[in-house]
Amino acid sequence: MSPKSGPPASIPFDVRMEMIKTLFGRRGVLISGCVAHVICMLVAWAATGDTTYFYWIPLFILVVASRLVLFRSYDQRGHVISSMAELDRWESVYVMTSSGTALLVGLVAAYSGFTAPNTIAPAIGMGLVGGTMISIVGRGFGSKANARTMTYMCCVPLVIGFAVAGWMQGDKLVSLSALPIVIVITTSLSISTYLHDLLLRALRNTRQTEIASQKFMAAIGSMPNGLVIVDGNQKMIVINRRAATKLGATEGDDLFQAIRRCMKDPESLVATIKVGYPLHDGEEVTYETNEGRWLRFRVSPLDIAAKRYLDEEWGGRQDGAYILTIQDVSKKVEADNKLQHLARYDGLTGLANRSYWEEASLAATKALPDGALVALAVLDVDRFKLINDTLGHHIGDKVIQGVADRIRSLGDPRVVPGRLGGDEFVVVLEAPLDTAEALSFCDRLFSAISTIYHIDGHNIDVRCSGGVIVRERDKFNLHADLSRADMALYKVKRTSRLWMLFDSSLEEEYQSAVRIKQDLRDAIENGALELVYQPIFDAKGERIVSAEALCRWEHFKVGHIPPSQFIAMAEEMGVIGKLTEYVLRTACNECMTWNSDVTVAVNLSVLDLARDGIVAVIANALEESGMPAERLCIEVTETVFVKDFDKTAATLSTLRRMGVKTSLDDFGTGYSSLSYLNRLPLNRVKIDRSFVISLVEDKKAQQLFGAVVGLAKSLGFEVVVEGVEERAQLEMVVAVPGVDMIQGHIFSHGLSCVEMAKKVDVNRPAPQGPVRVLRRVV
Ligand code: C2E
Ligand code: MG
Ligand code: MG
Repeated sequence: MSPKSGPPASIPFDVRMEMIKTLFGRRGVLISGCVAHVICMLVAWAATGDTTYFYWIPLFILVVASRLVLFRSYDQRGHVISSMAELDRWESVYVMTSSGTALLVGLVAAYSGFTAPNTIAPAIGMGLVGGTMISIVGRGFGSKANARTMTYMCCVPLVIGFAVAGWMQGDKLVSLSALPIVIVITTSLSISTYLHDLLLRALRNTRQTEIASQKFMAAIGSMPNGLVIVDGNQKMIVINRRAATKLGATEGDDLFQAIRRCMKDPESLVATIKVGYPLHDGEEVTYETNEGRWLRFRVSPLDIAAKRYLDEEWGGRQDGAYILTIQDVSKKVEADNKLQHLARYDGLTGLANRSYWEEASLAATKALPDGALVALAVLDVDRFKLINDTLGHHIGDKVIQGVADRIRSLGDPRVVPGRLGGDEFVVVLEAPLDTAEALSFCDRLFSAISTIYHIDGHNIDVRCSGGVIVRERDKFNLHADLSRADMALYKVKRTSRLWMLFDSSLEEEYQSAVRIKQDLRDAIENGALELVYQPIFDAKGERIVSAEALCRWEHFKVGHIPPSQFIAMAEEMGVIGKLTEYVLRTACNECMTWNSDVTVAVNLSVLDLARDGIVAVIANALEESGMPAERLCIEVTETVFVKDFDKTAATLSTLRRMGVKTSLDDFGTGYSSLSYLNRLPLNRVKIDRSFVISLVEDKKAQQLFGAVVGLAKSLGFEVVVEGVEERAQLEMVVAVPGVDMIQGHIFSHGLSCVEMAKKVDVNRPAPQGPVRVLRRVV
């Protein structure tokens, strides 16, 4: 029978392969079967004296030998079988050789029934057939074709032999004696078929399990993250490739041992998994490996079905089993660290910036024991603006870096240094042993910084001034003590000393400064600040064309506080916006009470220009007062452009489009005026008083003044000269062609609104009368 008709085509190749493999196993049975056949032949010969039995022996041996050769050849080549066709061929050859044995057995049985029905020989023949049937059931069921062919090969000759013998001898019993053996044969055929199907099903199931397992392994193997299933004894019973690489472990290893081998802080992670198990689903912890990579661990409990499966698989060990996923988040941690570093540290010096320094100092001082001391030093570089202006910003930057390096070079782990901005630094020293140690630290700090810096061929004598405060930890208040140290810094600037300790003698002054700040806040809130208007005259000094609104504060206790002080205070306290709004509204409203078209100039702080709402504030003031935009002039100093040129330029452009005039105040005192002067959206330039002071006696000053006016004029600006006090100065100023307006005490100090109203009403010439042009300066 052709094996092709045997197994259904739907049997998968590897299942079929396993089935065929069963045929070629247990070859010892073949040899023992052959020995049994030889013995049976000898017994039949002895019992019947028929020498024919003797001749069956070599036939049996020949067939078994050919089968053994086939088995050997399968051993050598069976593993390279790769197609169903090859399997078919192996099955066919196997069936042919096994059928040879079955046919011999069938023929011997038929011969014995035919030649010696009344001897033991037929019984031997039937025994052999029975034995063959057992061997089919026992080892030949891997191929249905084999079972069937062997069955037919031994049964058909036996039945025919006994039927013919009974007929020839006229003894029906002889014919019928083959019947039991036919029943046995049929039964064994159905058993072998049953076993075949059983084997097939088992192999199919095994294969499906294997496929499922392969799918599972392929799925977890191709996961981007590591995955480990850990049993209740912390053994890793499943571990995918990524987890194995990350933990340097294999299946069956102990998870905690693997963690201890490869993580930097293993005990904490082990404790987290142990104590935290089962971590709330979704909770994750990130730890660093010995190689500096960052792994994120997440523990998830197994679901019930998975637990049951593992219990069956690993025999009830799965209490406390869980899934551990491991994700390599090194890149993310690096990026986060970079971002955090950028947010926390100053790019130029690498020191903590203001906000992070505050955070770090607070954390450090909080951790100190009660009674421990804290020293705080605030320092800045003397004449830093001069270094920047004369040697350039790149040298200025290197000076700042040099200061930072020298602070770091002290190498004291108790130091928390920071850069507050510009040339301002701050240092906290945690837990000095006593005040004396803190003070000697400050001596070292300031003398380390104040020395000659060799930068790009320049020898720069850098000097730092500082204010220091030493406090007990529980009395330490970062912001208040920073202000105290600032006060000591302010004081030391007027001495020849490098630094000064804030002591009890300064406390009263500090407290009154604190009170004054609070009073300033109240004054702004309550509109207690006043405005005076300093007239600005035309170039001939005949007509008031404008007035500058100047803020005044008369403190109820201290008396007059100059605007240079309280404006800086308001900026520091963050209330400058309110002050500016108040000044703008008051100036616009009061200007509208004057019976004139005189314009009014209002000063803006650098911080006003930095915030977005300033245009709206100005527009509101104009709208509320009903003053035409053309009557308002905004004065800004050069520092606003240094801070954020583009933003400031955009804001001023908007104001100009609204019709508001813009003016550059204190021109000539800033950094790099000439380089950007022509790019500024300005109407006016106010030449600073410092140009006027030495105008009369200094020839060079005269030339410089003339050049500056000429430059401003050539760029299309109106020129205002401020701070003219004396008649001689005035004569010099008006002699320079291009001066459009003059402001100064020579004409008038600041006037109240009412005084101003009277003055513009008359709008009479200045007290000195029109100025005669004496000579040209340039
Ligand atoms: P500024 O804008 O340059 O104002 C001109 C300053 O020069 C005023 O000082 C004025 O009184 C003074 N001054 C005018 N003519 C002469 C003179 O002939 N000789 C001398 N020695 N001084 C003269 P003031 O009022 O003390 O203001 C100082 C600075 O305070 C102002 O300089 C301005 O920058 C600022 N300031 C004043 N009021 C305000 C304000 O409302 N807002 C802002 N942001 N700053 C203001
Ligand atoms: Mg001004
Ligand atoms: Mg000015």
